[in-house]
Amino acid sequence: MRAVAVFPKAKQVRVVERPYPQPVRNNQVLLRILEVGICGTDREIGAFHYGTPPPGSDHLILGHEALAEVVETGPEVTAVRRGELVVPTVRRPCPHRHCAPCRAHRQDFCVTGDYAERGIKGADGFLQEFVVEEDDYLVHAHRKLAEVAVLTEPLSISAKAAEQETAIQQRLPWERPRLRGLVLGAGPVGLLGAMSMVVRHFDTYVYSLEPATDVRAKIASTLGAVYVSGSEVPLGELAEKIGAMDLIYEAVGISSVGFDALGALGANGLLVFTGVPAPGKPRSVDTDTLMRDLVLKNQLVFGTVNASRSAYETALSELEQGMFLFPEGVRSLITQRHTIEEAPSLIAARGGIKQVVHLADASKS
Ligand code: BGC
Repeated sequence: MRAVAVFPKAKQVRVVERPYPQPVRNNQVLLRILEVGICGTDREIGAFHYGTPPPGSDHLILGHEALAEVVETGPEVTAVRRGELVVPTVRRPCPHRHCAPCRAHRQDFCVTGDYAERGIKGADGFLQEFVVEEDDYLVHAHRKLAEVAVLTEPLSISAKAAEQETAIQQRLPWERPRLRGLVLGAGPVGLLGAMSMVVRHFDTYVYSLEPATDVRAKIASTLGAVYVSGSEVPLGELAEKIGAMDLIYEAVGISSVGFDALGALGANGLLVFTGVPAPGKPRSVDTDTLMRDLVLKNQLVFGTVNASRSAYETALSELEQGMFLFPEGVRSLITQRHTIEEAPSLIAARGGIKQVVHLADASKS
């Protein structure tokens, strides 16, 4: 069977042949991979800046945004059934007894850093025709969502952020009708984050560099958000233009944009970072204004990475809501589908919104 692997030492990304998996045991599940989404992390791994092969291997099979179909289940599997569609989670717990989050199945908060991530760090990913996975790491997706369920993993990032926001804002024990949210960046994580805000009844704005005539701006408004172009409104004037925000969701990965956006954050507001900027030259921030505002406005800035099972479940519910409310907007996030042979060149280049590798059609059942 075919797989797409990165060889960091040889600096190559190519399609490789791999043996078909062994028969499943215990709680193992054999999956036929249907689709895999490509994101900025895959492109960084493909450029040899990030990513680690499994121990002892010279290559890493890519792919962490997947939709799969259950082909075979081991005798102890109860959570999923043959023929069902599933989305596998990405992160696997570290082995250390003292890592309380990992022992509590919250490896998205691992404290040792020794977790593995499929397709990213120390474990092969899903960009291969068949994969064996344990049922603990599979989330059931309704067959009616087959067309868009590959978006679940990038949406799980905003679903985890939303869980955190809800937990943090319990510090404000009064009713807060009609919250206002701003998304920075109109890439897939940003547009999915905007969709999530809209279905959670936020008045939602998307701020990004593309002109207001760009397809991304059109998708943002189809998803029910107001698009503001950075080519028309400088970040420093954003608050004046659209008012103060209760929540800012950063999805651009450019630290200066994230910190400059604090000017648009209202009293008691939260700014959440999701981007992982490549380390570059130090940048300067006006720390007096920053600290003064954080204190005088009770503001909070936090980062979030990866997602728990519950966030995947929330993401699937939000996709369902999105497909009910604005199906064309959700569908148009997937700009192109490609064959596995095209995957290496896809990983090398940017383009489109969400590019997907299509490996197999879901069976008719
Ligand atoms: C993935 C996360 C992962 C993070 C860091 C992101 O692209 O969506 O699941 O934790 O990269 O490796």
